[in-house]
Amino acid sequence: MASGLPSVMGGGPAAIGDLIAGAAPTFSFEFFPPKTPEGERQLWQAIRELEPLRPSFVSITYGAGGTTRDTTVAVTERVATETTLLPMAHLTAVNHSIAELRNVIGQLAGAGIRNFLLVRGDPPGDPMGEWVRHPEGVLYAEELVSLVRESGDFSIGVAAFPYKHPRSADIESDTANFVRKCRAGADFAITQMFFDADDYLRLRDRVAAAGCATPIVAGVMPVTAIGTIARSQQLSGAPFPPALAARFEAVADDPQAVRSLGIDLASEMCERLLGEGIPGIHFITLNRSTATREVWQQLGVAARV
Ligand code: FAD
Repeated sequence: MASGLPSVMGGGPAAIGDLIAGAAPTFSFEFFPPKTPEGERQLWQAIRELEPLRPSFVSITYGAGGTTRDTTVAVTERVATETTLLPMAHLTAVNHSIAELRNVIGQLAGAGIRNFLLVRGDPPGDPMGEWVRHPEGVLYAEELVSLVRESGDFSIGVAAFPYKHPRSADIESDTANFVRKCRAGADFAITQMFFDADDYLRLRDRVAAAGCATPIVAGVMPVTAIGTIARSQQLSGAPFPPALAARFEAVADDPQAVRSLGIDLASEMCERLLGEGIPGIHFITLNRSTATREVWQQLGVAARV
């Protein structure tokens, strides 16, 4: 195991659920597995540039349809063995039988990975297309949580959606399904990206009102280019707040102004959320370090942890 990792009693990597349940907020980064040698170079540059910030943990996503299974496993293992960072592997159920899922879990466990973010995944190609369960697989993330829970001593995170999941009929059923997934054995949740602190706070309130105390970490992605707005709508299935969109449109011809507005707004939102006592912030880095470092600096994270 890499030196410098936060440890739990008995050795081994820390349980991210314990870090998130701690008194200080966690600050963490999300990366995605690269598809090309240039992408790989960029990912490792970002990892090396962000490592000195000493984030609480980092996560590596699992490509749509399980397409990046081997790369996700390889990058997560490499982070565990060659850096001082605490890695968490995302895992999805798409196109996998339960036997295959057990195999991936075993492979990661063999590399010393103890932290998982378990999501159902979207159909490859069209994320809003029909979700087809593998004939020998699972139907909902809740079952993935039960599978990993019964496989060993893991810390488990799940996904939360401030604007409800795009497939959910309404907020009530979305909340009930989220709470059921937490009760299956999740230690924490991380949200889909959002751009208005109130949307996160409403989610937190309705989950608490349903009697669920699972801590919900905020997933944050600063807007760094005008195209990020459309991309975020595609990823989150939710409209970008119109008042904010108008502020970006007003400076759309000036990429530098768009970027600095994006950094300022993300920092202001994080500041407000931290003031509300949220358990952590997970930055979606898109495998680049600069925007995250700028928000990090504006927030003065080094002095908070
Ligand atoms: P589920 O919790 O299974 O929910 C899916 C839908 O089914 C929801 O509408 C829910 O309300 C409903 N539902 C749940 N349980 C029940 C039930 N028992 N009965 C009836 N309805 C139910 N995708 C990737 O491909 N790779 C990644 O690495 C990845 N990482 C992500 C990280 C985060 C933080 C987030 C927020 C999302 C991530 N995603 C990733 C996207 C995710 O896979 C999709 O959003 C997916 O459509 C939903 O996953 P889920 O785990 O929330 O699904």
